[in-house]
Amino acid sequence: MVEIVTCPNCGKRNRVPAAATGVPRCAACHTPLPWLTSAGDGDFEQVVRSTLPVLVDLWAPWCGPCRVIEPGVEQAARTLAGRLKAVEVNVDQAPRIAERLGVQGIPTLLLLRDGREVARQVGAVPPAPLLRWAEEVITKPAA
Ligand SMILES: [Zn+2]
Repeated sequence: MVEIVTCPNCGKRNRVPAAATGVPRCAACHTPLPWLTSAGDGDFEQVVRSTLPVLVDLWAPWCGPCRVIEPGVEQAARTLAGRLKAVEVNVDQAPRIAERLGVQGIPTLLLLRDGREVARQVGAVPPAPLLRWAEEVITKPAA
């Protein structure tokens, strides 16, 4: 899967693959691009394999509080461009992943480093505290 990401600096439209290593940068001006993608049971492992910390948003279309989370995840991807990869997982399409991650309810946010969970946030969080939480976790040195 490939996302089209508009460069926040120069407006160029870039193609960014969901599964890739390193930091996606604008082809024209080399600004790090916000990285927000999605994954399901079939491609979760490849998509979260990243040198960047990965913010995983577990949600479902029928879940009201999940809609509170979504703008925060988008904002975190934009604000922390080059430092974070955000991956939305629709649990209806990823029941095996949700089970393996031990997700009890949604919305649930996970932060992964090298594929391992380093932090978890359950329940709806408004954008500002969500961003603070994500930034704090990724700024902390890896244990
Ligand atoms: Zn650019």
